Amino acid sequence: MSTSQRPLPRPSDITQPYWDAAAAHRLVVQQCRACGSKQFYPRCLCMKCASEDLEWAACSGQGSVYTYTINHRAPHEHFKARLPYVTAMIDLDEGVRMMANIVGDDALRTAIGARVRVVFEEAGDGVTLPQFELAGEP
Ligand SMILES: [Zn+2]
Repeated sequence: MSTSQRPLPRPSDITQPYWDAAAAHRLVVQQCRACGSKQFYPRCLCMKCASEDLEWAACSGQGSVYTYTINHRAPHEHFKARLPYVTAMIDLDEGVRMMANIVGDDALRTAIGARVRVVFEEAGDGVTLPQFELAGEP
């Protein structure tokens, strides 16, 4: 492995369906069949009612920026090559929050409340990462 290869997620039995969907360019989150609650990140039970009866629900891929930071220092060679880059907490329209990078030529114009949409980054070794790009005015 080259020192510049990006660190990649290691899917578990619980998260594998999430990564499989991402590889097919679909964004999914867990939804509880018992109470309807959606959650991210994937877990073995519902965080609202403790049911283990969970399914995967497709998301629109649209959301807004809850908060973000612009990184000017990176802990790893791969990320140094991308400086400056944006890391954000995204509130999906489906009501869950996830961390991702904001990518694209205008990423440094990210603002709290900005509308974003998912894009899929082929990260190597068959791993696809859901990322986000700015989608216009809030
Ligand atoms: Zn539930």
